[in-house]
Amino acid sequence: MTDLLLLPGDGIGPEVTAQARRVAEAVAPDLSIAEALFGGCSFDAHGTPLTDEVLAAARSARAVLMGAVGGPQWAGAPRDRRPEAGLLNLRAGMEVYANLRPALCFPALADASSLKRHLVEGLDFMIVRELTGGIYFGSPRFIEDLPGGGRRAVDTQVYTTAEIERVARVAFQLARGRRNLVHSAEKSNVMDSGLLWRQVVTDLHAREFPDVRLEHILADNAAMQIVRDPRQFDVMVTDNLFGDILSDAAAQLTGSLGMLPSAALGDAGRPGLYEPIHGSAPDIAGQGLANPLASILSLEMAFRWSLGRPETADRILAAVVRALDNGARTRDLGGDLTTVQMGDAVLVAL
Ligand code: ATP
Ligand code: MG
Repeated sequence: MTDLLLLPGDGIGPEVTAQARRVAEAVAPDLSIAEALFGGCSFDAHGTPLTDEVLAAARSARAVLMGAVGGPQWAGAPRDRRPEAGLLNLRAGMEVYANLRPALCFPALADASSLKRHLVEGLDFMIVRELTGGIYFGSPRFIEDLPGGGRRAVDTQVYTTAEIERVARVAFQLARGRRNLVHSAEKSNVMDSGLLWRQVVTDLHAREFPDVRLEHILADNAAMQIVRDPRQFDVMVTDNLFGDILSDAAAQLTGSLGMLPSAALGDAGRPGLYEPIHGSAPDIAGQGLANPLASILSLEMAFRWSLGRPETADRILAAVVRALDNGARTRDLGGDLTTVQMGDAVLVAL
């Protein structure tokens, strides 16, 4: 059985994933690692971004580490066979409904004056975004012409008790290993789905997690507080749409896109999908300029949440911190290390 399936993908994906692979081999030589085509490269080889074989391999691995997919050369492909469609199918096929997006600011970077604009020193919170439900998937959904002229567009937000409960459970469990605080963000003042969200989270809290502090917050206020005082947060759980927006806002507080990992988790015992939040960065692909730390930190999350080796995850995180403390910087961090040299710096720190 494969422990870790690598899907390097397109653009800078293969460059950054190669560095994560070196780290994985160093910290866990016993791990069985496989690699497969996914995204534009799979479209070129097989006419589809995600073959049935690769989806089956992903579902039967213990963890999947993805690089990035897409690029201008596939923009003309049929919509359902674009790399991005492959990613949605992979997420759906793996049934990963809880998207963990850490907003973590590394102390070593808080001094970099070139980056200082967006940094919040001491920031360390986690957004848990519901990933497979809500307004992105609800029906009906259509655009239609109106008899009197003009058009009408309809999207539908649907959430069931079960969908809310399973993602909230992930958030409460996470908080127990952190600062024991969960903020649940919704718009219960104007939306019925928000009202149900609040009720389900409240009930689950009382039933299973009375030891965790729970705060309800309206999503608009959450946006304001993320900008005003983000250090008050530990774990924030929210729906698909609000999570998309709030996690992008939070990401801006940490310094660089090249630093931020993410995890998508399903039920306990099912494989998680790990990937940097950055894209395939066609503008710098193939030049050895990409920062591999988001990929290495995604690997760190895989060890923590899917591979059952939290102490190995701690080692990787400590090595990244030490490499940054030692001054290792790729170009996006204001330095001149190549992708491979940044990988070297992490390995030396290990
Ligand atoms: P996508 O649509 O795939 O999300 P995007 O248009 O949002 O892509 P990215 O590919 O994430 O954009 O790139 C945005 C910018 O950030 C680019 O200028 C890119 O070079 C830079 N960038 C992204 N990832 C990294 C990285 N790992 N290291 C350095 N720079 C990066
Ligand atoms: Mg993007």
